[in-house]
Amino acid sequence: MDDAALAIVGAGPAGLATALFLARAAPTLADRVVVLEKARHPREKICAGAIGARADRLLASIDVRLEVPSVLVRGLAVAAAGRELSVRDDRGAPIGRVVRREEHDAALADAARARGVRLIEDAQVTAVEIGARGVTLTTSRGELRALAVVGADGVGSIVRRAMGLGRGRLVARAAEVDTLPVASDGPRDVLRFDLEDRTLAGYGWDFPTIVGGRALVCRGLYEIPVDGIEGGGERVDLGERLARRLARLGIEPAGARIKRFAERGLDPAEATATPRALLVGEAAGIDPVLGEGIAQAIEYGAAAGPYLARCLADGRFDFEGWRAAIARTRLGFDLAARARALPFVYGRTRPAIERWVVSSEHLAVAGMRWFAGDRVPRRRLAGAAVALARAAIAERWGG
Ligand SMILES: Cc1cc2nc3c(=O)[nH]c(=O)nc-3n(C[C@H](O)[C@H](O)[C@H](O)COP(=O)(O)OP(=O)(O)OC[C@H]3O[C@@H](n4cnc5c(N)ncnc54)[C@H](O)[C@@H]3O)c2cc1C
Repeated sequence: MDDAALAIVGAGPAGLATALFLARAAPTLADRVVVLEKARHPREKICAGAIGARADRLLASIDVRLEVPSVLVRGLAVAAAGRELSVRDDRGAPIGRVVRREEHDAALADAARARGVRLIEDAQVTAVEIGARGVTLTTSRGELRALAVVGADGVGSIVRRAMGLGRGRLVARAAEVDTLPVASDGPRDVLRFDLEDRTLAGYGWDFPTIVGGRALVCRGLYEIPVDGIEGGGERVDLGERLARRLARLGIEPAGARIKRFAERGLDPAEATATPRALLVGEAAGIDPVLGEGIAQAIEYGAAAGPYLARCLADGRFDFEGWRAAIARTRLGFDLAARARALPFVYGRTRPAIERWVVSSEHLAVAGMRWFAGDRVPRRRLAGAAVALARAAIAERWGG
């Protein structure tokens, strides 16, 4: 393989967005970048595919529009402690959409190729050597040398390992299955979150989806074992738990193909860059509370593209400024806030949090606006704060 200035490992949303935003920031540097992908698009990615409109907006800002089959989302519903709150964004515009990752990521790969990004598929990176003067990547298609490497290779990141970083403290598990809709599903433009099972340090979901033209529902479970709050002692297989959840919904689990995968939440205390190597997307870490990572992957790319363009122009690859560069973005604020919230959401304060999320329309609207990438009105934040105080008081003193 020809040498490159920059090697990006992984052609998921993080790697492709990094290449696309880099190509926009510095068109003359684009052909010095190569993206290596072990699979070939369209490739399977186990994922429910719910994407906040903020991701599409970011891509639109560089004139990339992904026309793929989608279920438009206009509201969300949360069930907890025997109650359910369902809220629709009163402006009527979609706050996001649900896609199939096979189709979405293949369209993103096409967009990247159309911008001149060199994408090499069926190229699995099997070893990464990070030296003082450059990086050597061993791949299933030969060796590649580059000045620096970007790890966009997801939860099992080989680049992350080569950087000497551990797996991370906030590794979650998820299991999902696509089924036919059932009567209790509600409107098809609403994402439904289910916090009813307190023995699960996580939640269940029912997202409308479209698979090969068929209107189905992607149902799943997310679990993040955090110190001191893992489950309620009932340690069962997540797939088994999902099968039980399906049975409760009246769905015969026997014929369902349950898929499982891990996810990595960002721990702000962990490094995401070392000299000549930098991580984006799930290789670095995404939202640990809900495991939302597609929009985050694209946001990582939007930050990394211009940052890397400057590094390439200056010939500096210590990446010392990467943490600060991310911290200044909406993504950095978002991920840090969610990591801080994690022990409260699934820990001892969970009952109060549940009370809050099923009682506060302000919170739901604020969450939807954030998901969409819109400004969150102050009155919604204030209303949500008041509702939180009320929920905490009611939980403490009854009410
Ligand atoms: C069950 C489940 C449901 C989910 N649902 C949602 C959801 O509804 N909404 C949401 O926002 N997020 C969801 N997520 C999270 C989301 O899927 C990820 O956070 C997102 O895909 C991260 O993007 P990425 O580009 O960082 O990594 P990935 O999408 O994992 O892409 C990494 C790429 O790197 C390639 N790669 C890996 N190793 C190598 C190698 N050695 N050499 C070359 N290439 C390599 C892979 O083939 C892959 O194409 C879900 C996750 C799971 C597990």
